[in-house]
Amino acid sequence: IPRAAIVVTGTEVLGGWVSDRNGPWLAQQLGAVGVDHVSTTVVGDRPEDLWAALDHARASGIDLVVTSGGLGPTEDDLTAAVVADFAGRPMELDEALEGRIWAIIEPLAKRWGHTDPAALRAANRKQALVPVGATVLEPVGTAPGLIVPPADGTSGPTVLVLPGPPRELQPMWRTAIAVDAFQAAIPGAEVRGEQILRVYGLPEAQLADTMREARAAGIELDAIEVTTCAHRGELEIVNRWAPARAAVAESFAAFVAERHGELVFSQDGRTIDELVFDLLRERGWTVATAESCTGGLVAGRLTDRAGSSEVMAGGVVAYADEVKRRALGVDGALLAEHGAVSAPVAQAMAVGALDRIGADVAVATTGIAGPGGGSEAKPVGTIFLAVAARDGASLVRHVRIPGDRFAIRDRTTTAALHLLRR
Ligand code: ATP
Ligand code: MG
Repeated sequence: IPRAAIVVTGTEVLGGWVSDRNGPWLAQQLGAVGVDHVSTTVVGDRPEDLWAALDHARASGIDLVVTSGGLGPTEDDLTAAVVADFAGRPMELDEALEGRIWAIIEPLAKRWGHTDPAALRAANRKQALVPVGATVLEPVGTAPGLIVPPADGTSGPTVLVLPGPPRELQPMWRTAIAVDAFQAAIPGAEVRGEQILRVYGLPEAQLADTMREARAAGIELDAIEVTTCAHRGELEIVNRWAPARAAVAESFAAFVAERHGELVFSQDGRTIDELVFDLLRERGWTVATAESCTGGLVAGRLTDRAGSSEVMAGGVVAYADEVKRRALGVDGALLAEHGAVSAPVAQAMAVGALDRIGADVAVATTGIAGPGGGSEAKPVGTIFLAVAARDGASLVRHVRIPGDRFAIRDRTTTAALHLLRR
């Protein structure tokens, strides 16, 4: 299997000002095209550090290096020059490319009120300098990408040079993988099959048992790649396989589904957010939220994707008891008797949202996110969730969620979405 390394460049990423979105994204893509991803390195905008990262890849026998960033028009953007030098290829001006980049930046410069045409020309020219023999990938923004093989007669990795902004890098990656020069760098790579199973309500340790049982049942798990991770209160099982091993993956997925039944809520990659959205849309239902401890996070996830106006009616963040009474019509006596963090109050919040917002189904959250506010009877992490539907159906759940404030709120939100799906 060909081996690849990722080199993320950018002083802002190295320093933690911008969190790296390209490394993780590229890692996923490399796996999908059947390349063994060996390492991700982050370096600042310093040529010697980029060089060292490339050199290390060469010394490790890496076939492909993917770089992100440093293709801009300014002095500190040096990736193309360093990679050219590394590959033993001089830089030359690609005049046709210069013209195409000019056609992109000239109208932009007018809009930005750029007044120095000489500087603009120089920046344009810099971005059109490419290593001799490299394949140019057309700009998505203003910077072209490059596929740079080692100079003839030398050995080393091919370097795929991509721009830093994720919205430019991602489409350019999709173009790059179809290019001959890219394919030539990763001989023998086979596009992997991938399936993501999502499980809710199963302890992670249980999954290790399931894998042992699958092995004992004769499923050759070592012939495929199985990655399990806990993610926002759910478990993800990512299976990847070379084409010849599809049957192993299929029998493992069937084994997991059989073993854990309903807890396996998704086998086609859809997240709980997508499943809830699809379910509501299929039924033609709208949803309302009444949130205390999650402070609007449920409404946030319900409105994350385009088209959510089809299913989301609205929501109330009822943090204070007074707001639970006034905005949702929760009975003051109920609050006094049971406390805000209780099953009857969760239920009354859901019913209140259903009636007052006018939706087909409503979900409510109330709980103690901490770190303060816990008691012996209701420790931090005590959560009540309720769903009420126009057709009279209702559900209430009491859950105990471990973790810090962030984790408790996040997992409560996930739990609310799972309850909505019931
Ligand atoms: P240009 O300068 O023309 O925009 P570039 O290829 O030089 O393109 P950079 O200058 O390195 O890209 O980065 C531009 C912006 O893209 C950064 O300010 C940052 O917001 C974003 N960016 C760069 N690298 C990353 C990364 N690894 N993860 C997330 N965002 C990134
Ligand atoms: Mg940069």
